[in-house]
Amino acid sequence: MSTSVTTVPHWVGGAEFLPAASRTSEVFDPATGETTKNVALATEDDVAAAVAAARAAFPAWRDTSLAKRTQVLFAFRELLNARKGELADIITAEHGKVLDDALGEVTRGLEVVEFACGIAHLMKGGMTENASTKVDVASIRQPLGPVAVISPFNFPAMVPMWFFPVAVATGNTVLLKPSEKDPSAANWLAALWAEAGLPDGVFNVVHGDKTAVDALCDHPDVKAVSFVGSTPIARYVYERGTAAGKRAQALGGAKNHMVVLPDADLDVAADAAVNAGFGSAGERCMAVSALVAVGDIADEMVAKIAARATALRTGDGRRGCDMGPLVTGAHRDKVASYVQAGAEQGATLVVDGREVQADGGTEGFWLGPTLIDHVTPDMSVYTDEVFGPLLSVLRVETYDEALELINANPYGNGTAIFTNDGGAARRFHNEVEVGMVGINVPVPVPMAYYSFGGWKSSLFGDTHAHGAEGVHFYTRGKVITSRWLDPSHGGIDLGFPQNV
Ligand code: NAD
Repeated sequence: MSTSVTTVPHWVGGAEFLPAASRTSEVFDPATGETTKNVALATEDDVAAAVAAARAAFPAWRDTSLAKRTQVLFAFRELLNARKGELADIITAEHGKVLDDALGEVTRGLEVVEFACGIAHLMKGGMTENASTKVDVASIRQPLGPVAVISPFNFPAMVPMWFFPVAVATGNTVLLKPSEKDPSAANWLAALWAEAGLPDGVFNVVHGDKTAVDALCDHPDVKAVSFVGSTPIARYVYERGTAAGKRAQALGGAKNHMVVLPDADLDVAADAAVNAGFGSAGERCMAVSALVAVGDIADEMVAKIAARATALRTGDGRRGCDMGPLVTGAHRDKVASYVQAGAEQGATLVVDGREVQADGGTEGFWLGPTLIDHVTPDMSVYTDEVFGPLLSVLRVETYDEALELINANPYGNGTAIFTNDGGAARRFHNEVEVGMVGINVPVPVPMAYYSFGGWKSSLFGDTHAHGAEGVHFYTRGKVITSRWLDPSHGGIDLGFPQNV
């Protein structure tokens, strides 16, 4: 571990917080391979200090008027929009994705902030007058308290923003535990909240690993956990959080299939496959990793994708390249091992990204776009979530075979179909067991006012992120039944209340 670099601190109670005895972990610039920072890893006591700050801030924030909360959200929105380039630079420096893509992730996060600016409308309850004679009934939704958001490395700004704008807007206080691989975006966002006028302690950042995650899941003052990451950890966090009595939503990994029917425009489909397969070096939970070619189009499809993939420029995300490095050397090696395994298990290596000449540091974590054909469902490159720039092609004869393949897969995050046949597209969206479906749209990420989430092993819990489901997750319902008596009313009646 390098000691000559700065340590990214936690952010607690409106200020940086760096306990003396911090364990740390290295943060790399993936395009050079250098260690650029360390990040503090919270102990159980550090988490307790952050939870105490969030708990202390809750009563006042909960009672802050919707008008004032909305003003803070609008201020945050304006600042973020004006300075999103700064955040994109931070993302590229620690994650590696190209600058345009980093800016894209900030913009999609910003859309959730804009959604949350409408919180006064979203929090409106219901009211029934005269439900029983002179009895009125009202329903309201109230915030939960301190809530935890635990996020993955691949979207260090957007994924936290799927959750915290809605959590803050609904009156909760937040503990964000970002990935230790790219921690700095979270601190930048925390400082921006302070600038926007958010009271101290409403938004806190705790960096760390399993110790911090376990402490957040177990702490009795944390009322809800929102998690995004790989399926085994999502399942673990969901089980640990709910065992501790919290509500939990845990979004897991993915294996996203793109079906190409014989009637599709193959050039359009090839462009889409390349964008969705290799954008952000395949490190997207909505990346297409399995292309299912139906009928006799496979050879032509593979040739079109190969031509496009080999023309992509891989390199430093700050140099205008198409695709950046992978997040760490270890992850690059793991993805490369799947390329090898695919070849050994009988697939055809059409484009081998291990041979890439990258426009970046010699020690950067490079792996170029990789295309593997004749993949079968038993190969590890298909059974596992690879999470890299590796696109597998599976060949099937019919639509039904394609559908069967997808529905048999344990994951159900995103999928897409490319066709010009409206009837086939409609059948697909009706029959496929996946949470987010694209029709001629390869990365069907829902808008902020809809909710994001997959099915099966891609989501534990039943509530998706943002949109109406996000508001629901971060609030609990209360129903108030009231009767304002005129003085002549009264008397004892032990019978069960009945409506008259
Ligand atoms: P990860 O599961 O390794 O880490 C996610 C979070 O869990 C991080 O904050 C990490 O510090 C923490 N963590 C890691 N190991 C832990 C452990 N043993 N115990 C407790 N906490 C632990 O995921 P990642 O590699 O950072 O991100 C990539 C994964 O996230 C992929 O599987 C991808 O599909 C998934 N993802 C899913 C979605 C979605 O919407 N479904 C979105 C983005 C990413």
